[in-house]
Amino acid sequence: MSQHSHALNESIGSTVLGYPRIGPRRELKKALESYWAGRIDSDELQATAAELRRTTWEKLAASGLDSVPGNTFSFYDQMLDTAQLFGAVPRRYRHLSTTDAYFAMARGRDDLAPLELTKWFDTNYHYLVPELSPETRFALTTDKPIAEYREASALGIVTRPVLPGPLTFLLLAKAAPGSPSGFQPLDLLDGLIESYAELLSRLADEGVAWVQLDEPALVADRTPAELRALEHAYTRLSALPSRPRLLVAGYFGRLGDALGVLAGTDVEALAVDLVSDERALAEVSTERKLRDKTVVAGLVDGRNVWRTDLRAAVSTAAGLLGSVRDLGVSTSCSLLHVPYDLDAEHDLEEPLRRRLAFAEQKVAEVVTIGRALREGPEAVAGQLSAADEATRVEGRRDDQVRARLAALRPEHRARASFERRADAQRRRLGLPELATTTIGSFPQTGEVRAARAGLRTGRLDAAEYTTAMRTEIERVVRLQEDIGLDVLVHGEPERNDMVQYFAEQLDGYAATEFGWVQSYGSRCVRPPILHGDVSRPRPMTVDWSTYAQSLTDRPVKGMLTGPVTMLAWSFVRADQPLAETADQVALALRDEVSDLERAGLRIIQVDEPALRELLPPRRDRQQEYVEWGVAAFRLATSGVADATQIHTHLCYSEFGDVITAIDALDADVTSLEAARSNMEVVQDLAGIGFGRAVGPGVYDIHSPRVPGSEELRTSLAAAVAALPAERLWVNPDCGLKTRRYPEIEPALRALVDAAKAARQDS
Ligand code: GLN
Ligand code: ZN
Repeated sequence: MSQHSHALNESIGSTVLGYPRIGPRRELKKALESYWAGRIDSDELQATAAELRRTTWEKLAASGLDSVPGNTFSFYDQMLDTAQLFGAVPRRYRHLSTTDAYFAMARGRDDLAPLELTKWFDTNYHYLVPELSPETRFALTTDKPIAEYREASALGIVTRPVLPGPLTFLLLAKAAPGSPSGFQPLDLLDGLIESYAELLSRLADEGVAWVQLDEPALVADRTPAELRALEHAYTRLSALPSRPRLLVAGYFGRLGDALGVLAGTDVEALAVDLVSDERALAEVSTERKLRDKTVVAGLVDGRNVWRTDLRAAVSTAAGLLGSVRDLGVSTSCSLLHVPYDLDAEHDLEEPLRRRLAFAEQKVAEVVTIGRALREGPEAVAGQLSAADEATRVEGRRDDQVRARLAALRPEHRARASFERRADAQRRRLGLPELATTTIGSFPQTGEVRAARAGLRTGRLDAAEYTTAMRTEIERVVRLQEDIGLDVLVHGEPERNDMVQYFAEQLDGYAATEFGWVQSYGSRCVRPPILHGDVSRPRPMTVDWSTYAQSLTDRPVKGMLTGPVTMLAWSFVRADQPLAETADQVALALRDEVSDLERAGLRIIQVDEPALRELLPPRRDRQQEYVEWGVAAFRLATSGVADATQIHTHLCYSEFGDVITAIDALDADVTSLEAARSNMEVVQDLAGIGFGRAVGPGVYDIHSPRVPGSEELRTSLAAAVAALPAERLWVNPDCGLKTRRYPEIEPALRALVDAAKAARQDS
């Protein structure tokens, strides 16, 4: 360890594990998109990035935190940054410059597929999956963490560089296609440790006092071999002759066995999440090996927007003082997952507003807890009692909804057998095998966005807005007919976002103005806040869907967002079990489904792209989650006739853990993301004898690349080889709203061609 560090640097004190980076007004998003479109050059992009880093560091330093995190900025994703940092760049990108390779891995190019994009644990953030093979040779290739440290130092701010740790990096990576069977990324641990070692010693040379290595992968159940690898990695890193102090952060759950393993190595500090799992506190306070460690207690929820019960947090922290050598306080995880600043909001009403805290406010909460510990609660008495008051405020109550919930019986969550339904639906719909469809949204053109904005600002009145939307719906229906799709959609032009659209119409939800959080790359979402009892004052989608169906004889799918996703992509009240909140949303959706059915829609899709996202990391908590998630979906969808076909859509491809849940949803047709993972899903489904219909996505809509007919045919052939054609659908792997027409039109035509060709072959 570097012996010259100041005594001040030995403690972490108060800190946050990470911070948002997209910009309070989405400055980075705008700069990235301008850069990709060729409207600004790389210097301008770099200038925006440097400005965002500077304002973040300065704000955090001025807030009174003792330790400011560094290297939390990213142009796209921290896993991608780390892959490039250590030279884990697959061969297909290596002819490109550093910047071009970076964005090609993120987004693909016409001739180059991107890396796979996947959910970051149970959050709404997505990371790029590093592709590793036995040929991967790690080597320190960029100097991003070092450069950002210097940049902050030049502003007079000492930072603590943060990056994913080696275990999490490897456990989240995947074997590159074509790797020998049996190869696992974890096999590469020794080589990777050497690169981390080199980075750490270079950071020590720069005078860096602390480095934070994020190991959220450790809050899931890990095998004995993985725990041995963990011990090996941190024994080796902590034995380096010259290195900064190491803070290893495990968050999104409790560390379990990994806690003792880490505490047994010579790393100086562990950051633990005391919010996500109530069992974590006991684990930490009884681990004797923590007595000579610094423990950074994650007491402020980094994932939600509710104010912290500061008095409770202070007493939790105080209770830990005797169990550890030195106590720091922090957020439970990076603040990446919450919006920047509550003070930017002008339309949030009291008393809701008083219950909320965004990133800036959470930083202040951490500072307050730190001061209470150091100076005594009297020093922050005002803050503590304000928090007492705020956390006592109750949300909206709806007795009618509560009465309906209390009266629910099992038959409200059950339909007839799949065989019987399939038969009734075959007769009513008369679709070919390998029926073609899309997932729901069509590209959101400038006109569509302008019309929605026009309604908001009053430039368009309700009638003008309806005309604009109907014109768009008609155009999209005619296009789909022309392309030759079998089941049509209305295109969702009226929706800003699949959750927000419904949240705006349901009671019990509030919307923010600037509450953006990063979803992936430049994509941001503005999660609504579910703060009270939920109910549906009036139908939400019936007019648009009915209009679309009136234009065509082909079936149009009604399109709703399911209860789990309505929760997963919102900030949800923490004052009652999620299961109850989910059922409230499900009842509102059930009424909407009935209204759509009555209006003549023969197919209704209830999207649950987030089903896997909320899955708790520890197996012992998964069953309970799956039960209420499935129960809520079934409550929403079981009120229909046998002949009404229920579809669902799931946005991921690795669904080993939720495969039985998908089965239990009992949807007639399930469409899934599959294109970026070579249709692996289909094999998995065949493996469990999945008995309903499936639409494995053959066209990767997350990339601007247009797939050729040949490529789609190969994917389809893989599907047909694994599952009977009459139970297969042909579709893209997600909604098209982030794409442009010149991309999707040829892709959809190729998709219809490929389906026709496959029908002939089968
Ligand atoms: N129906 C939605 C759409 O097409 C589904 C989006 C999603 O799965 N995230 O946009
Ligand atoms: Zn999707």
